[in-house]
Amino acid sequence: TYAITGATGHLGRLAVDALLRRGVPARNVIALVRDPDKAGDLAELGVGVRGADYDRPDTLGPALEGIERLLLVSSPTPGRRVEQHTNVIRAADAADVGHVVYTSILHADETENVLAPEHVATEDVLQGSGLPFAVARNGWYVENYTGRLDEYLARGEIVGAAGDGRVSAATRADYAEAAVSLLSGDITDQQGYWELGGPAFTMGDLAAAITDVTGTEVTYRDLSPGDYTDALRAAGMDEDTAGFVAALEASTARGELETDSPALENLLGRAPTPLVDAIRAARL
Ligand code: NDP
Repeated sequence: TYAITGATGHLGRLAVDALLRRGVPARNVIALVRDPDKAGDLAELGVGVRGADYDRPDTLGPALEGIERLLLVSSPTPGRRVEQHTNVIRAADAADVGHVVYTSILHADETENVLAPEHVATEDVLQGSGLPFAVARNGWYVENYTGRLDEYLARGEIVGAAGDGRVSAATRADYAEAAVSLLSGDITDQQGYWELGGPAFTMGDLAAAITDVTGTEVTYRDLSPGDYTDALRAAGMDEDTAGFVAALEASTARGELETDSPALENLLGRAPTPLVDAIRAARL
């Protein structure tokens, strides 16, 4: 029996779909959700739905009962993640889960990216637990960009501070399928750390691809880190969030979101979805 956390979220939901597409019977798939009231569409698929709140260990033991393989989708709450993930891993250990897949960040153990320390700490907890595990060190989602397509088209530009930094982004659907590939099949081949990303592009490449696909000219305007932070604040962002967003841009500029690892392609058994296809899909 398989379980997926964050199943009402984007990635978790796609992972449920990917498991079913692989032929896993719905009765062997359990969607773990913070709020079962939001899981009506999951229940309609015939999968089991159980309440599981990362902040409430009392919910996690019952949720993981009988689970053999668990996909732990990282929490969306920076600052709370280590405690939340530790709660899940402890419960998985107590429930004798046979294999845990965790979604981490690209180059977790060497990057200066501000999000990395909580992922590394989680990886360490997993390693220390003695549970068999695989870590999917995911790069950026293409949707981080295509989700802003309307804004880019309206402005005619993408504004950032990523310089010539290349981003090996991939679609959430591809990461979900790769995570499910690590979750199922022969786990002895799949343990350890997987650096996952799609074909690399710069922000200039992204602007050119958007121009090609839409016929509307979009260019990339690169700002210094300080000017970028000022621009975010002038657009109404609070100081902390602006600093955080600028720090992520700095990570991109340093090349930390790039990988030439073929692992994503290998796990998918096909090329990751091309950037232009993701842009086209976002236009539909
Ligand atoms: P979503 O925000 O769509 O989904 C997050 C899920 O986490 C939701 O199902 C949410 O439940 C659930 N959740 C939040 N808090 C808790 C809790 N206390 N207990 C149990 N579940 C909880 O994120 P995505 O699916 O898009 O991405 C998955 C993860 O990937 C993110 O959580 C984040 O860690 C990371 N991420 C990676 C990015 C990248 O570019 N690689 C970009 C953004 C995030 P509910 O529906 O009830 O809110």
